[in-house]
Amino acid sequence: MLTGAGTSTESGIPGYRDADGRWMRAAPVLYQDFVRLAAARRRYWRRSMAGWPLLAAARPNAAHAALASLEALRHVTRIVTQNVDGLHERAGSGTTIALHGCVGDVVCLNCGGRFSRAAVQQALEAANPYFGVSAADAAPDGDANVADDPDDAFDVPACAHCGGVLKPDVVFFGEGVPKDRVDKARAALEESDAMLVVGSSLAVYSGYRFCEWAAALRKPIAAINIGRTRADPLLALKANEPCGPALTDLAERLGGAPRRPRGGPAVSRG
Ligand SMILES: [Zn+2]
Repeated sequence: MLTGAGTSTESGIPGYRDADGRWMRAAPVLYQDFVRLAAARRRYWRRSMAGWPLLAAARPNAAHAALASLEALRHVTRIVTQNVDGLHERAGSGTTIALHGCVGDVVCLNCGGRFSRAAVQQALEAANPYFGVSAADAAPDGDANVADDPDDAFDVPACAHCGGVLKPDVVFFGEGVPKDRVDKARAALEESDAMLVVGSSLAVYSGYRFCEWAAALRKPIAAINIGRTRADPLLALKANEPCGPALTDLAERLGGAPRRPRGGPAVSRG
């Protein structure tokens, strides 16, 4: 099981790409720039401060609940996600490997100290009272599209232990996925009968390569995704549908009563 941004759009977290796979957002901050340039960090954190409230308020949706149910029924042995929103874990999926990390965690690049993103948000807002958090157009990963005013006046908090550079514990563009995570996910693929892709166009190679590996291992691959995926030529089955209804239907057919997502509508069953 490999999930992507489309799994979380029903939780109100916007996707990266439209149905034709076209990139919809402003250029992300690259890892090399973030590490080397204070200006890139100001740009990142200013946008992140604006985008965080929406991410913090997001709740698991029907797709997360159905996948947790399929996992409880052992139809799904491992969820590998490209998402950094932590919603699979919050829906109760205990097998999740978050390939690209979790945006709710922040790490110091100097001492390795860890902080919650919520605590860093408090520090950001306290240090930058003149930068609003409400007017932004939210984007994936807690990013946001904000006006391109100079970021010079934006104050980026440092590590409370050593004064080092703080970075969200997510894999940036230009940064590799940690090898132990890839190895663990690849081992799960080798032990599985088949692979299901949910809500991803697979445009990013760190996700697509699992399809290449599955094809090389002669495992059938299916996908639930609105629009084209990079792996379309490799698929045995494609459902061009929203993830929530398709997965809920699948979980019910396979004998599971999907857990109701927290804060979601009540489902009456007759
Ligand atoms: Zn530190």
